[in-house]
Amino acid sequence: MAGDNGYPYAVPLSYVLQDGKIYFHSAKAGHKLDAIRQCAKASFCVIDQDQVVPMERTTYFRSVIAFGVIRILENTEEKRSAIEALAKKYSIEDSPESRNAAIRQEWNALCMLEMTVEHLSGKEAIELMKGSPA
Ligand SMILES: Cc1cc2nc3c(=O)[nH]c(=O)nc-3n(C[C@H](O)[C@H](O)[C@H](O)COP(=O)(O)OP(=O)(O)OC[C@H]3O[C@@H](n4cnc5c(N)ncnc54)[C@H](O)[C@@H]3O)c2cc1C
Repeated sequence: MAGDNGYPYAVPLSYVLQDGKIYFHSAKAGHKLDAIRQCAKASFCVIDQDQVVPMERTTYFRSVIAFGVIRILENTEEKRSAIEALAKKYSIEDSPESRNAAIRQEWNALCMLEMTVEHLSGKEAIELMKGSPA
């Protein structure tokens, strides 16, 4: 995000991809939300693989950067759908009852963010490319 005083602000976040959009949960206040309110444009980087190969003095990496705009979800149904998707991803074995109880408990303090991806780029180490089928 565009942070304060010209410094870009990067913050690690958990995420879920649903219907082509990326969702995050957040507290209702903080640097990240202030930055989004000032400028909705953001980029989000995900590292899929980072295998250090000391003997080759390299890493077999694969990552992606998504560029897009962030929206704070104000609609109850949208917010509910996003937090459910996130909860299912990270607590896959949770029962619906337990998940619903946790969501109910956190609901008022919870802010959900939606990123609409406008473009993205991916990059991987040449060693991984060589191993990919043509
Ligand atoms: C792997 C991982 C996953 C996370 N997943 C989530 C998530 O899904 N949702 C969520 O809300 N938070 C998550 N966090 C915490 C997140 O990184 C932020 O700390 C949090 O969201 C608060 O951000 P903020 O901008 O509101 O910071 P503020 O609370 O406003 O923090 C004040 C200052 O502290 C510093 N700061 C904040 N966070 C960090 C950080 N992570 N590392 C170093 N300095 C920091 C910044 O300089 C910031 O200006 C995760 C952290 C990690 C490492």
